[in-house]
Amino acid sequence: MSHHQTIYSSPVFQQACNQFDAAADILGMEAGLRERTKRPRRCVVVAMPVRMDSGKVELFEGYRVQHNLSTGPAKGGIRFHQDVTLGEVAALAMWMSWKCSLVGLPYGGAKGGVIVNARDMSATELERLSRRYMQEITPFIGPNVDIPAPDVGTNAQVMAWMMDTYSNHKGYYEPGVITGKPISLGGSLGRTEATGEGVAWFVKAYLEDMGVEAEKTTVIVQGFGNVGSEAARALYHWGAEITGISDFTGGIYNPKGIDLKAAAEYTAKNKSLKGFPGGEALTNEQLLEQPCTVLIPAALERVITAENAGKLKCRLIAEGANGPTTNEADQILSQRGDIQIIPDVLCNSGGVIVSYFEWLQNLQNYYWTKNEVFDKLHRMLAKAKASVDETQKKYNCSRRTAALVLGISRVSEAKAMRGLFP
Ligand code: GLU
Repeated sequence: MSHHQTIYSSPVFQQACNQFDAAADILGMEAGLRERTKRPRRCVVVAMPVRMDSGKVELFEGYRVQHNLSTGPAKGGIRFHQDVTLGEVAALAMWMSWKCSLVGLPYGGAKGGVIVNARDMSATELERLSRRYMQEITPFIGPNVDIPAPDVGTNAQVMAWMMDTYSNHKGYYEPGVITGKPISLGGSLGRTEATGEGVAWFVKAYLEDMGVEAEKTTVIVQGFGNVGSEAARALYHWGAEITGISDFTGGIYNPKGIDLKAAAEYTAKNKSLKGFPGGEALTNEQLLEQPCTVLIPAALERVITAENAGKLKCRLIAEGANGPTTNEADQILSQRGDIQIIPDVLCNSGGVIVSYFEWLQNLQNYYWTKNEVFDKLHRMLAKAKASVDETQKKYNCSRRTAALVLGISRVSEAKAMRGLFP
């Protein structure tokens, strides 16, 4: 049954399914429960005609996949990217289910995606597309149903437009429908930093377990978006040297350290890192293979593969991105045994944790200080780390499988107790 063709079938969906099966095997999950825990609950596909600035109308396609609605409203970001596919969104939705469950959030899992290169759009075109997408998914979402958030290619401004469209439809201000909003519209302090802050927190905690000192740590970050740039900043302030960064145009490598502030200013001005003078220009592929203590893939899926897994020269991989490591690469890395991995569902969970805090603040109309946010975030990260470490010892499995065993078992138990409908 597990190898049946579905509408989601694709390499990245298969990757998520294979990871699931490894955890379900350890749990000894019976076939029926296994299939209904694994398979996404439902998806919507929307066609969105958008008037471009030229006056012409272009038709865009978008998705929202709700993987799990059994343990609370679904939760997960919306991606704007030219390579988005339904199978990818389904895999990302599945990972949201395990991530939320792993860290103990009262949510299911979902993800949205629109096939578009937002870089090619004007702000007004992007606004019309964002509003149209929200209009189309409005019947399927809400603070008690499914709560979107930012992902690759979307940001607080996009969340603001979407929240406004939803609220106008309802007739009242409803900030709890979406997270990652600007502070002026019910956003939480610390949400922008949260994912990168969490990645950095895990890197520090695991380096400490490994006995590596901060001053000797070099870090390469693939992807200089929200997650990568915030993780780099947090690790730099802690004392690490950031020796490599990259974006969709390529990488910059400098063994003496990269000036992050200059890089951020350069990208703000030039829209990419291309031509940044602070180091040697490399391709993204080359950058991953440079020597460093910590490698942080913080861009897209499937960048650590059978091709390069044997050539990596780091001691720790911190998965800021979702799904950056293929099943084959996982196998090679575990055979090598000299590189530790902090798996995505654990490593980047800081984002959705602070999204949860944002939603709570919206529902209560009571807002927290940044210290309260970070304090509560760090506590949840510490708790999740301890339970993953304990589970890894218990089953003598990879850290990824341990994290998934925890995330998956809570969802499957809830499904088993509820019955066949949820
Ligand atoms: N898109 C982010 C993720 O992959 C955040 C999701 C959220 O905050 O709901 O975890």
